[in-house]
Order: sequence, then structure tokens, then C-alpha cells
Amino acid sequence: MINITENLKSVTDDLKEGVRLVAISKFHPAENILEAYQAGQRVFGESHVQELVAKQQTLPDDIEWHFIGHLQTNKVKYIAPFISLIHAVDTPKLMWEIDKQGQKNNRVLHCLLELHIATEETKYGFSYDELISFLESGEWKSMNHVSVDGLMCMATNTDDEDQIRGEFHLAKSIFDEVKQRFFAEVPSFQELSMGMSHDYHLAMEEGSTLIRVGSKIFGERVYA
Ligand SMILES: *Cc1c(COP(=O)(O)O)cnc(C)c1O
Repeated sequence: MINITENLKSVTDDLKEGVRLVAISKFHPAENILEAYQAGQRVFGESHVQELVAKQQTLPDDIEWHFIGHLQTNKVKYIAPFISLIHAVDTPKLMWEIDKQGQKNNRVLHCLLELHIATEETKYGFSYDELISFLESGEWKSMNHVSVDGLMCMATNTDDEDQIRGEFHLAKSIFDEVKQRFFAEVPSFQELSMGMSHDYHLAMEEGSTLIRVGSKIFGERVYA
């Protein structure tokens, strides 16, 4: 039996100062989320728009929903009214759409830019060079309904701890550089989202501020 309350506690007990937990509830039913909610968790992350919208409609209003997956441009409109943080903005085009939907909903949408750091080819995100040239272009400055709150990344899916640590270390140094060069006067640029069930301890040691932990809390996901 999975004990969500106990699992949650074991993760929150480990949180370093300044680190927040995003409980990743994708593919888990609403009643499991409610159990974590009743144990005190308020921040949840989902990676599929339809699933997120359905859960948001049935679960308590004071949940802070984060979108953590690859977001298709044509789906931003469904989450724009309520989303608290979009973790994985990976193209300027997506960011412009977020700005447009923020405007329509009369709110500023908070997001993180996804940095591609892992060795896998398949993962989304800006390379270092793409990120710097996008930020240098300054085009994001005219997006009045987007707040860039930081960076997000995923490490390579490997058991090699040195490699994972090295990737997180690199992400933190890029975060610091970007903060200094482009967001020195922007206090809200402060989040570095990295770390999942198998690597969140390493991520916290390397400077993560948001960890995204799913299976360690809710158990293995069952894919329909
Ligand atoms: C599913 C997912 C997680 C959580 O993964 P676990 O290994 O279950 O902790 C974190 N981040 C992203 C982007 C995910 O898609």
C-alpha cells in the first residue's frame, strides 16, 4: 500500500530552506491529490492540459497549479485563467502566446524558461546559446503579461550521480549568469526548478528552489 501522507512528509521533512515542493500528480486520480492536500500540500504539478483542467475544476480552489510538461501553443488558453506557474517555456512562440492569453485573462502569467541540459536528444528546451540570444534580443521585454520567474531543467535520465550533479551545477551557474546579465533588477527572477524523485537531493544541494516530485509521493504512475 502506498501511504501518500507518509511519503509526502518524508519529502517535506527533507526540504532545504528556500526550496518548495511541487507535488507531481499527473496520472493520479483526484482523491490521491486530495489526500496530499489534506496533509497540507498546496502546490501540485501536471503535464497534460486536459487532465489538469478536469482536476482543477473538482479540487479545492486554493491549490496552486503548476504546468510542468511540454505545452502546445494552442492549449495555453485552457490553463491561462488559473495557472500559477508554467515551468517549461521552450520557444519564443509559446511565450508570445502566453502573453496573449495573459492579456485576454487580464493577468500576468508566471513562467520559467526551460534550459536543455541533458544529453538526451529528445528533450525540449533552449540550449545555452539559444537562451542567451533570445534574452539578448530583448523581445520578451515587450510581453507585458508574462513574468519570467527563472529557469527549469531536467537532468539526463541516468544512474550516474556525478553526471546528474554536474548538469545541475551547470544549470545553477547559467541561472546565476542570466540573473546577473538580464534580471539583476527583477526580484521575481528567483526560481530554479530542478530535481525529481530520484535526484531531488542532488538538485537541492546544487541550488534548486523548486523540486518536482511525483512517484516518491504518489507511487508509480499507471499509464492508461
Ligand atoms: C513526471 C515529471 C516529474 C516527476 O517525476 P518523478 O520521477 O515521478 O518524481 C518531474 N518533472 C517533469 C517535467 C515531469 O514530467
